[in-house]
Amino acid sequence: MRLGPKDLAACRKNPLWEAHHGLVDRVVCRKCGALLRICLGNKPGHLWTQHGISVEGYKAKYAGARIFSYQYIADRCGYDAPELMKRDLERHLPSRQLAECRKDPAWEARNSVIDRVVCRKCGAMVRSPMHGKNGHLWSRHDKLSTQIRKYGDV
Ligand SMILES: [Zn+2]
Ligand SMILES: [Zn+2]
Repeated sequence: MRLGPKDLAACRKNPLWEAHHGLVDRVVCRKCGALLRICLGNKPGHLWTQHGISVEGYKAKYAGARIFSYQYIADRCGYDAPELMKRDLERHLPSRQLAECRKDPAWEARNSVIDRVVCRKCGAMVRSPMHGKNGHLWSRHDKLSTQIRKYGDV
C-alpha cells in the first residue's frame, strides 16, 4: 500500500500523520509513501534497501517522523498501542499552532506555557532539557545546534 501524492505531501509536513489517521500498526515512509508494518530502519530495512539512506539521514530530512509503528513500540515495551498514540498526540502542538510557533521565539510566554518548551522542528512539548546528550534534539533529531541557528534562541 502506498499514499497518493497529495497525502504524501501532507504526511511529509506532519510528523504525527500516523496518529492523526489512526494508524496504530503502520508507519509511512516519507520518501515514497509506502505504508509499512513494524519499522523503516535499520540495515537492511526499507530506508536502506529502497532508498539507500540511513535512519539518521531520514530523521534529519523529515524531522520528528516516526521510524517505528506504535504497535511495534507497544509490543516491545508492554504498553497499549492506542494509549501510546493518544499520549503522543497530547504531547505535540497541532500543525497550525506549530506554524505560528515557529515564527515566534516568544510563543511560550505569549501562550502562558511555563513548564515546557516547544520543539520548533517536530512540535513536541518538551519538559526535559532540549540540549545535551539526553536532550530532545539529540535523541529525536540527532542535531544539537540546528534549533538555535534556525529559530533564534528558544
Ligand atoms: Zn520508501
Ligand atoms: Zn522535536
